[in-house]
Amino acid sequence: MRAPAPGFTTRFAPAPTGALHLGHAVNALWVWGLARRFEGRVLLRIEDHDRGRCRPAYEQGILDDLDWLGLVPDGLTTRDFRAGPVPQRQSDNTARYEMRLAELEARGLVYGCRCSRAEIALVTNAHEGLELVYPGTCRGQGSGVRDQVGRRVLMKRDAPERFDDLRLGPQSQDPMAQCGDLLVRDRNGQWTYQFAVTVDDWEQGIDLVIRGEDLLASTGRQLRLAQLLGRTTPPAFLHHPLLRHPDGRKLSKSSDDTGLAELRAAGWTPARVLGLAAQLSGLQPDPTPCAPAGIADLFAAV
Ligand code: GLU
Repeated sequence: MRAPAPGFTTRFAPAPTGALHLGHAVNALWVWGLARRFEGRVLLRIEDHDRGRCRPAYEQGILDDLDWLGLVPDGLTTRDFRAGPVPQRQSDNTARYEMRLAELEARGLVYGCRCSRAEIALVTNAHEGLELVYPGTCRGQGSGVRDQVGRRVLMKRDAPERFDDLRLGPQSQDPMAQCGDLLVRDRNGQWTYQFAVTVDDWEQGIDLVIRGEDLLASTGRQLRLAQLLGRTTPPAFLHHPLLRHPDGRKLSKSSDDTGLAELRAAGWTPARVLGLAAQLSGLQPDPTPCAPAGIADLFAAV
């Protein structure tokens, strides 16, 4: 693993669509651990772009769990943090997304799309579980039609997106082959994860994104989108190992067996949770408890 440039700004960006579990503790450990080791700053961003699935109670749970873990976003004291309001919430950023989309539209990079997921799957003969590649059915339609129409950004370029992941090394991704023209707002007017995260990372000055390997495939398209939006200095990326169930499944946000609130209720200490998270993501050979104040040491060898 290569060391990030010291003094970076990163973020912890959970979606309040469920309670935090051990998988989030792993992400938080990498985010705060690297920030403490390399004098970085951690911003908290509540990723509530999916209005249908987000719940205020989950958001409160995230704040409580982070506070309990002893991982406090920079620029806030623990007391402010618990009292709220939360510094960044995607549902507050609608005007920002509208403006960025309008800029892309003005440059002829956006078109309206009426296709549903089911229609795309049918046309492309997609296999369940695999990512849908949009075949460009509505391309050429322009951005004039507005109601009940999604918005896609033209993604075609001659060269793939290349980036050097701090942990995984050189990567090359072709968004056109992975997903086709990117959906930035869906037919219900909801902003997509890819668009919201790209706009926010730029707006918040995030220059290092630390997240799990499950999001590796999103990085090329976010880099391309950032470029189209006009971001000239892209962030660096570090994708860390995912925590898995012993049977190999990825932990989902709905799995309650490793929920932080449940572990806390069962008498676990923050140090025990962080120690286990460190072991399960390859930072130490055993689950030796690790106090929040000591997490930088897990990255001493970087
Ligand atoms: N909100 C995403 C999640 O909870 C993380 C987004 C990101 O790190 O880019 O999985």
